[in-house]
Amino acid sequence: VIDNGQPEHAIVTTCAYCGVGCSFRAEMKGEQVIRMVPNKDGKANHGHSCVKGRFAFGYATHKDRITKPMIRASIKDAWREVSWDEAISYAASEMKRIQAQYGKDAIGGITSSRCTNEEAYLVQKLIRAGFGNNNVDTCARVCHSPTGYGLKQTFGESSGTQDFDSVMKADVIMVIGANPTDGHPVFGSFMKKRLRQGAKLIVVDPREIDLVKTPHVQASYHLKLRPSTNVALINALAHVVVTENLTDDAFAAERCDVASYNKWKSFIADPKHAPETTEAITGVPAAQIREAARLYAKAGNGAIYYGLGVTEHSQGSTMVIGIANLAMATGNLGRDGVGVNPLRGQNNVQGSCDMGSFPHEYPGYRHVGNPETNQLFEQAWNAELSLNPGLRIPNMFDSAMDKTFMGLYVEGEDIAQSDPDIQHVHAALRSMECVIVQDLFLNETAKFAHVFLPGASFLEKSGTFTNAERRISPVRKVMTPLAGYQDWEITQLLSNAMGYPMNYSHPSEIMAEIASLTPTFAGVSYEKIDELGSIQWPCNEESPEGTPIMHVEEFMRDNGKGLFMLTDYVATQERVTPMFPLILTTGRILSQYNVGAQTRRTENNQWHSEDRLEIHPHDAEDRGLNSGDWVGIKSRAGETVLRALVSDRVQPGVVYTTFHFPESGANVITTDNSDWATNCPEYKVTAVQVTKVNQT
Ligand code: SF4
Repeated sequence: VIDNGQPEHAIVTTCAYCGVGCSFRAEMKGEQVIRMVPNKDGKANHGHSCVKGRFAFGYATHKDRITKPMIRASIKDAWREVSWDEAISYAASEMKRIQAQYGKDAIGGITSSRCTNEEAYLVQKLIRAGFGNNNVDTCARVCHSPTGYGLKQTFGESSGTQDFDSVMKADVIMVIGANPTDGHPVFGSFMKKRLRQGAKLIVVDPREIDLVKTPHVQASYHLKLRPSTNVALINALAHVVVTENLTDDAFAAERCDVASYNKWKSFIADPKHAPETTEAITGVPAAQIREAARLYAKAGNGAIYYGLGVTEHSQGSTMVIGIANLAMATGNLGRDGVGVNPLRGQNNVQGSCDMGSFPHEYPGYRHVGNPETNQLFEQAWNAELSLNPGLRIPNMFDSAMDKTFMGLYVEGEDIAQSDPDIQHVHAALRSMECVIVQDLFLNETAKFAHVFLPGASFLEKSGTFTNAERRISPVRKVMTPLAGYQDWEITQLLSNAMGYPMNYSHPSEIMAEIASLTPTFAGVSYEKIDELGSIQWPCNEESPEGTPIMHVEEFMRDNGKGLFMLTDYVATQERVTPMFPLILTTGRILSQYNVGAQTRRTENNQWHSEDRLEIHPHDAEDRGLNSGDWVGIKSRAGETVLRALVSDRVQPGVVYTTFHFPESGANVITTDNSDWATNCPEYKVTAVQVTKVNQT
């Protein structure tokens, strides 16, 4: 794809990989992208980029792209290429047949953080208005759903509080369960710049991430906790802040719910939360916790950035709340340089959540059971809408096994590879009578599909993505869709065939409808995005040009006050035993992206062509292992084989792998444990045994 010739024209669009949302100029010769050049005017990236956005776009024209719709009566049959008309009509008739046979609630859909806002909005509209139920969910279920829950409860809005530029005013940066230099490289480089200017760094992570020892950056404290003990650690940090009178009581009195603050202070002051008590749980020396807590609390500006190492736990939501409590107690909210900032993994995970892709929420995080909201959408959509929350992704799988959920529409998500306890997922998909997959490639989920609808890459569509700082950026079509349609058009075809009419002629009309129904998007339009380059929501009459920093005057809760909540530490059910003596945790690497469907089909593969299992030298020695040896990894859910990498980046008792290659089967071994509030899987904690195996 890459050609060094001179471009004929360039179109500004947005990277489709991570939640930084870098702006690029796609330089073109006719309809061929010859290079992606980071846009100097991009407000999220200021002309920077990483190896994914810059080089890994060739997947869009890879030979594996499917460009014809296909159907088959059974997953044992071969695929048959058909016309769009036949595919859509077959898909709709099957979904209607299932509803007639098993009931209205027997079908549903899953949208993705890879989709644009407009596409995600249409999928949830199709399901609520066209299918007649709320059985819609998104892949955010398996990553940042605890962020949505925890920040909504405490701050009143399910989003990060700051813009990226805010980090340049931070004096102390606390990074919890995130690896910005690999996962969010451009923002990671901004963070390093601030650290080189003298800001202090606290890293909370079971593994030594690059930031810990980057030259001229070195962390002041690396709290190397045992996986699954996050809540005990955040409580210990808060305990020090409260018992050493490092709280900002004036902030709490003016900005927060005072009764909840007082109750929380008594709770957290209990000696059971003292670092000396929790040291046995977390494995982090009490003195280090005390010093790190003082450093954060005494900072002029203390900023917290966190990732999936916070959310993908059985107490993911509790930990998000614990972080919010700590920031409120120290007054680190509502101005530049502070805040609570989830580093969203996928390009549009924020947007897919904003657009109502959850079974209990309409766009703008409004509960489906609220009669006023229900009425608003019924009138706008001219449809009868259910007041009952629908099924979450894991409930869809469980219901499929009970034969009460039999038809699934999946847009842009490879659930047969990315979801935990994969054998259960496969069994559930196998038991469904109609699985419709809309994607670029015949992915793992397509193995269980009856209808394949070929989708469009980000280069073939128009719309918007919303990044981790709530920035809505334009996605502009630079090539004609290879299969003929953009994804929002395919959803519209399906909706019309299901009997619920949709008649949009451009995504700007969909955004106009979103703005008319969603108060935080009320001032958003394509014209304004074109004029400003991008907009951070909330954007409405009060903030016509958007909102870089939230909760400046008051929190977004109904009474304007931040809410403290109690965060009891509860140990995970996943325990090490003599049979499974090590804890497996997972993460990402710079050159690859998630399950690798895109990056593995580009030259980025040369830098990281297999997943490896990092194991501490002591554990390796016990097992007679050297780097490069094949090892079998077994959990109570399943087993797989990987090559070992002996490394002291992990602590004894902990092993670590990336999950970019389907053959590694990381999710064969992850379990069905999940967050108590949102069912986000506990990907980060799996008890395993590791043994040397012979493999050719
Ligand atoms: Fe794309 Fe993220 Fe890299 Fe930016 S940092 S180029 S958004 S992958």
